[in-house]
Parts: sequence; C-alpha cells; structure tokens
Amino acid sequence: MRIVLVGPPGAGKGTQAAYLAENLSIPHISTGDLFRANISQGTPLGRQAKEYMNAGRLVPDEVTIGMAEDRMQQEDAREGFLLDGFPRNIGQAEALDAFLRSHDLKLDAVLDLEVPEEEVVRRIAGRRICRKDSSHVFHAEYQRPKTEGRCDECEGELYQREDDSEETVRKRLAVYHSETEPIIDYYREQGLVTTISALGAVTEVTERAMTALGRD
Ligand code: ADP
Repeated sequence: MRIVLVGPPGAGKGTQAAYLAENLSIPHISTGDLFRANISQGTPLGRQAKEYMNAGRLVPDEVTIGMAEDRMQQEDAREGFLLDGFPRNIGQAEALDAFLRSHDLKLDAVLDLEVPEEEVVRRIAGRRICRKDSSHVFHAEYQRPKTEGRCDECEGELYQREDDSEETVRKRLAVYHSETEPIIDYYREQGLVTTISALGAVTEVTERAMTALGRD
C-alpha cells in the first residue's frame, strides 16, 4: 500500500505511522525524521533544513522533494510506503503525483488525522523524543516513560525538540493551515481522503486508522 498521513503538528502522525507501518509491513518515511537525521549527522542538507525548522517554516521544496524521492526509491519501499509529513504543500503533492505516475504507481489512501488546536499545543508542549530513534515518542503527562528521561524501548536519552517551543508551534500551526490543509482538498478530489479523529488512546486511533484503510 502507498499511504499519505496528514494532520497538524502534534496530531500524532509519527506515533501512528510507526504502528501502522509495522502492521502493514511497509517503511515509515518521515521527512521530519530524515531532516533530523541529517541535522544530527551535520550534513549540508541538515544545516540548511535546521534554520527553517527552528523558525517553524517549511524547508524549501527543492531540498525536500529530492530527499523524499530518493527515500521512496530505496529497495525496502518497492512494495509500498507510509509517508508522514510529505507532501506538505500543493507543489510537493504535484511532485509526488508526477513521481508516482512516472513509476506507474498510485496512492491507495490519504489518512487525515483531526485534532482540536488546544490539544495540539498541549501534546507538543509535553512531547519528548528519543535521541537514538525518533519514532520512540513519549509525553511528559500522557505517555510517561518508566524511567524519567529514558526511552522505554532502547534507553536512549529523551529530549524536547527545539521547534516544539510554544512560539514555534503557533507558527507551525499557521503554516499548516495555509500551506498543508489545501492538499486535503487536492486529494479529496481524487477520492482518496478519510478523516479520522486523533483523540483518545494511541491504540484506539491506530484501530480507527486500520479500519479506514480496510485492514481491521
Ligand atoms: P510535525 O508534524 O510535528 O510538525 P515533523 O517532524 O513532520 O513534525 O516536521 C518538523 C519540521 O520539519 C517542519 O516544521 C518543517 O520545518 C520540516 N519539514 C518536515 N517535512 C517537511 C516537508 N515535507 N516540507 C518542508 N518542510 C518539512
């Protein structure tokens, strides 16, 4: 299956994507994670991306599209993938369509995770991420690790993302409304969108998502 996950920052895309990808045996491709890996490795791409990310803005399409396409062409993505955080504007959605068309492929579904704005701010303020594996995500109140500051799964150090400060979150939300939300209508016209509520327990949301994908 080829799936796109959309939703505001803090909707739990990363958390859900990790579970869904595992259930569906397809790789989880997160452009945010790819950028963060480049930042921690100190690559030129990482240096470029960091400025935009910390300002809550989108990394330019020239950089993002090439990186996403490289990742989608890797061996493990041959049978499908779950895209998390890409596409994030109409230009990227059009580039993805062109990429898929040129490989004779199609998207199967777009899952839209819906969550009220106050909840987004609450979730992001408490979000803690593992340094060793950024798909291991915790929350200071809602999903506390067994040992303070340590990842339950791999004992990596937990940290707060620099772009998770309240000011940057507000900017990211504004960018989401103006640039990313339009792709939901773009995909709705293609009949691909299912909207599900991202409220409730992580496992409940995963169940809703699997049902929406016809895999329950
Ligand atoms: P969230 O969904 O919580 O905002 P991500 O990890 O998906 O977190 O993204 C963090 C930041 O990385 C974004 O605010 C943006 O700066 C950058 N980024 C991620 N994906 C893209 C993309 N497809 N296009 C441009 N910038 C991106």
